[in-house]
Amino acid sequence: MNKKDLADLIFPDITKTIEDYEKEYPERKLKENAKVTRFAPSPTGFMHIGNFMAVLIDYVVAKSSEGIFYLRNEDTDKSREVKGAVEYIRHILETYNLNPDEYEYRDLNETKGDYGPYIQSERIEIYHTFIKHLLIEGKAYPCFLTQEEMDFIRESQARDKRRIGIYGRYAKYRNLSVEEAIERIKKGEKYTIRLKSPGDFNRKFKFNDLANGEMEFPENDIDTPIMKSKDRLPTYHFAHLVDDHLMQTTHVVRGQEWISSIPIHYELFKTFGFKMPKYIHIPLIQKKDGEKVRKISKRLDPEARMSYYEEKGYPTYAIIESVMTIINSNYEAWREGHPNSPFTDFPFSPKKMSSSGALFDLDKLDNISKNYISHLTKEEVYEGVLKWSQKYDEGLYNILTKYKDYSMDIYNIERCQKKPRKDYTNWSEIKSKTWYMYDEYFKNIKYDFKDYNIDDVRKILKTYINNYYNEFDTEEQWFNNIKLLCNEFNYATNIKEYKENKEKYSGSVIDVTNMIRIALTSLDMTPNLYNIIKILGKERVIKRIENI
Ligand code: GLU
Repeated sequence: MNKKDLADLIFPDITKTIEDYEKEYPERKLKENAKVTRFAPSPTGFMHIGNFMAVLIDYVVAKSSEGIFYLRNEDTDKSREVKGAVEYIRHILETYNLNPDEYEYRDLNETKGDYGPYIQSERIEIYHTFIKHLLIEGKAYPCFLTQEEMDFIRESQARDKRRIGIYGRYAKYRNLSVEEAIERIKKGEKYTIRLKSPGDFNRKFKFNDLANGEMEFPENDIDTPIMKSKDRLPTYHFAHLVDDHLMQTTHVVRGQEWISSIPIHYELFKTFGFKMPKYIHIPLIQKKDGEKVRKISKRLDPEARMSYYEEKGYPTYAIIESVMTIINSNYEAWREGHPNSPFTDFPFSPKKMSSSGALFDLDKLDNISKNYISHLTKEEVYEGVLKWSQKYDEGLYNILTKYKDYSMDIYNIERCQKKPRKDYTNWSEIKSKTWYMYDEYFKNIKYDFKDYNIDDVRKILKTYINNYYNEFDTEEQWFNNIKLLCNEFNYATNIKEYKENKEKYSGSVIDVTNMIRIALTSLDMTPNLYNIIKILGKERVIKRIENI
């Protein structure tokens, strides 16, 4: 009996060879230097900001070189799969317009691209073919270590401060005879398949990571599992090797947590003689927590999840910009010089990424977002809030649908000018800044006229409505009328004059306008009052003032 018999026993149905697959995945016909990137999430949780950063880099690298950006669903860990995670990934890619060129959406029965299947659980036959090849070559073997034995090995290694893993004398089954292996399998013993590592831990090799530069690692000598016993699915290490090879990924963008796996991946590619893609290991995303800077945490920080930004209603542009600024420190300067260019035009450089961590700052996001929203048209703001409210605030959605033009007029206050007012940070915030304009929300109001004399307030408001309010006034006419109103009640129209002679007056024009402001909005700070009065319109203005 030989290795082929063992391989046939383990994979009786696998008749194809690696060469067959090489033919099915012919060389991609792309422009010279075009890059092929992939987003390869495991659907074991909801998409977080670190994933998003990887996608942006994948996208920029592919698009700026007229290459391919594809999506691969790495669903080989069935026990950790989270329902809805795959759909959510698609939703985010669609929302941010980062659509992959190749993908497979099983629930929609939709596939694009010639290098699939793009879902790992549909590629089992392919992985098995590659593993079978290794078995025949004697480069992999079935390992019969039980969970208890492995736990025992791990504990003893930890106790003796040795490296953890199945290597050297711990790799008990690496030299088992074919006959014995076959006998055990026939008896129904459980096994995983491990790579028979040819590495030597005392030898070093150099590896060039595009983000972190040249690094030196000891060779891998651990007999890494490549196929799990439970469901015969490959491990991540093995599946990524096969897929990135066949799908011809040129650049792998992934989290820094994978750096420690480089020796294994280097060895796997070498074992098959495949060209390794280039790797860009991206920094951890950090945040300020008081004085400290720490890693952003999915558990502790709501902003670590992509859903946070959607719930808050940040425009997608603001999120992309904020994340781009932490990807490369020269992004902001580039943006200043290219205010209207798509972010994909940015000359991204992996070398300009910080290896120590990328600090994500919510205040900065707010600023970017405010600035962005301030430059939108009233129609765009309306569309933004409307779409957000449709999902998150039904009451607001109904109001916005009913008062479309009215709402746009509100959003237009102090908008069409050189330095537009930066009122709104995100769509969810707009209600809290405009609620008083809608009678539906302007109910059961507790007015606070501060220390104004309430009799004065009543008289002034009444006189304003009866003698000085005219719905068709221009801003200038309106203000002249306010001044007349001031004169009538002995309020100074000139602030400087008032400050110098306070005893002569009951107050100033600021107080008078504030009384009107509070009566109409219940607030003592609002955008331009003239605009508010104009937009509220005669009926509301009179009703609200009569209410006082
Ligand atoms: N499936 C891996 C993960 O979600 C992907 C790592 C990679 O991009 O290769 O962490």
